[in-house]
Amino acid sequence: MHTSSRNTGKVHAPFIYNPEKKKIWAKAALYGYDFWKKYCHSNDLLFVEDGVMEVAIDTQSEKTLLMHFEWGLKNGLSDSEIKILNEREVSRIEPNLKCQAAILCNKDASVNYGRITQTLAEQISNNNKLVKIVTCSKVTRIKNNAPSSRSIIVEYIDSSQRTKKEIDCNFLINASGSNSINILNSLHLENPYQDLFFRGEYWIAPPKYDSLTSHSIYSVPQFQQFPFLDPHWIIRASGTREIGPNACPVFTPYGYNNFDNARELLPKIYRLMTKKGHRMHKTLLRKELLDLISKEAFSSISKRYMINRVKRFLPSIDPKEFRIRGTAGIRSVLIDKDGCFVPNPIFIMRDNILHILNYNSPGATGAFPISYAIAFKLLENGILKDCRDTMFGRSATPFDDKLLTTCRDEIDIDFV
Ligand SMILES: Cc1cc2nc3c(=O)[nH]c(=O)nc-3n(C[C@H](O)[C@H](O)[C@H](O)COP(=O)(O)OP(=O)(O)OC[C@H]3O[C@@H](n4cnc5c(N)ncnc54)[C@H](O)[C@@H]3O)c2cc1C
Repeated sequence: MHTSSRNTGKVHAPFIYNPEKKKIWAKAALYGYDFWKKYCHSNDLLFVEDGVMEVAIDTQSEKTLLMHFEWGLKNGLSDSEIKILNEREVSRIEPNLKCQAAILCNKDASVNYGRITQTLAEQISNNNKLVKIVTCSKVTRIKNNAPSSRSIIVEYIDSSQRTKKEIDCNFLINASGSNSINILNSLHLENPYQDLFFRGEYWIAPPKYDSLTSHSIYSVPQFQQFPFLDPHWIIRASGTREIGPNACPVFTPYGYNNFDNARELLPKIYRLMTKKGHRMHKTLLRKELLDLISKEAFSSISKRYMINRVKRFLPSIDPKEFRIRGTAGIRSVLIDKDGCFVPNPIFIMRDNILHILNYNSPGATGAFPISYAIAFKLLENGILKDCRDTMFGRSATPFDDKLLTTCRDEIDIDFV
C-alpha cells in the first residue's frame, strides 16, 4: 500500500552512493541487480535492462559527475558497466539530450516493485504452510515482557472483521517502513532520532515523447548534502515515460493529500521542536535546507516549474503536454540529535525486537541483499536457525549460495 508500490521502479546502480558514508546502500545496490534479475526471470516478471545516464549541464556538476564515476568503480562496477561520455558521444546515443558530459551505466534496470512484492507474497504463502501473511490489519500495540519472559504480544485490529487479535511470539522484526520509528517510540525506547517526510510526485509524459530517449536520465543533484535527487526523466518497466520525483515536505508518512497534511502540520511541528536534547530548529533553519524545501514545494504547486527542471537537459519537452499525475510516494528521513540527515538504514535490537529504521532509497533495490544480510546476522546470533530447505524447498530459491554468502560477508549490518 505504501512506498514499495509508490516508487520509481529502478534497480539502482551504486555510482551515486559515497563508498565511505553510504556503504550499506552501495553494496546493497551492487548485489540487488543480480538478485532481481534472477528473481524476475524465474517468475516471469519484467526486468528491463535499459541502463541509465546521469548528466552534467555545467562545469560544477561535471566535477560531481567525475566523482560519481570514481564512486561507481570503488563500489564494484566494472569499466564495461560504467563509462564517462563527452558531449559529442552523448549526442550520438541520445540526440535529444543537452549536456556537457554524462555517465552511462548499463547495470541499472526497471521493474515494477509493487507487482514483485505481490508475487513474492503469494509465492511464499502458497508454497508452504509455515508462513501466513495477514493484510488489512493494523498493529496497535506491542506488549513486550522481555527480558523477564521471552513472550512478545502483538495486538492488532483486523479491519475486515473489525476485531482485535493478538500474535504471541518470541522474536519480532519491526519493518513497518515510515511507521517503524513510531512503533519503536511506543515501546518507550530512548533513541536520538526524529523523522521528516518528503512526498515524491510524478507527471506522466504523453506517448508522443516515447522515443525521446532510450535511457532514463538523471541530472547531478543540485543539493549534494541532502538525500534527494532532482526530478529525472524516467522510463518505467511498462515503457511509460514520467518526470519525477520531487521531494515536497509533508507532515505525515501517509500525507498523500492536502487534508491529511493540514491536520498533521501543528502536531508535527510541536513534536519536532520539543524532543529533548534535539536541536531541530538548527536543521530546519539551515539556509541550504530552506532553499531545497522552497524549491521542492514550488515543484509541487507548479507543474511548469517541475517539468522545466528536466527541460534543462531535454529542451524539446513542453510542460503543457503533461496532463496526468503519476502515483506519489513518501520518503521518511531520519535526523539525528545534531540535526544531521542519517545516511544509512539503522538496525536497533532491543529485548528480542529488531527495529529497522531509515530504510530509504535504494531500499527496494537492496531488499534481497539486506534481508539476507540480516538473516545471516540473526543466524550468527542464534536467533534464527537455518531452515531454507524446509521454508522454500531448494527449487523455489533461485539464488545460488555464493550470492547469499556475499551478502553475509560484504554487507556490514550492525545491530545497535
Ligand atoms: C518517491 C520514491 C521513489 C523511490 N524510488 C526508488 C527506486 O527507484 N528504487 C529503489 O530501490 N528504491 C526507491 N525508493 C525507496 C523504496 O521504495 C523504499 O526504500 C522501500 O520500498 C521501503 O520498503 P518498506 O517495506 O520499508 O516500506 P513500505 O513499502 O512502506 O512498507 C511498510 C509496510 O508496513 C505497513 N505498516 C506500517 N505500520 C503498520 C502497522 N501499525 N500495522 C500494520 N502494518 C503497518 C505499511 O502499511 C506498509 O505496507 C523510493 C522511495 C520513494 C518515496
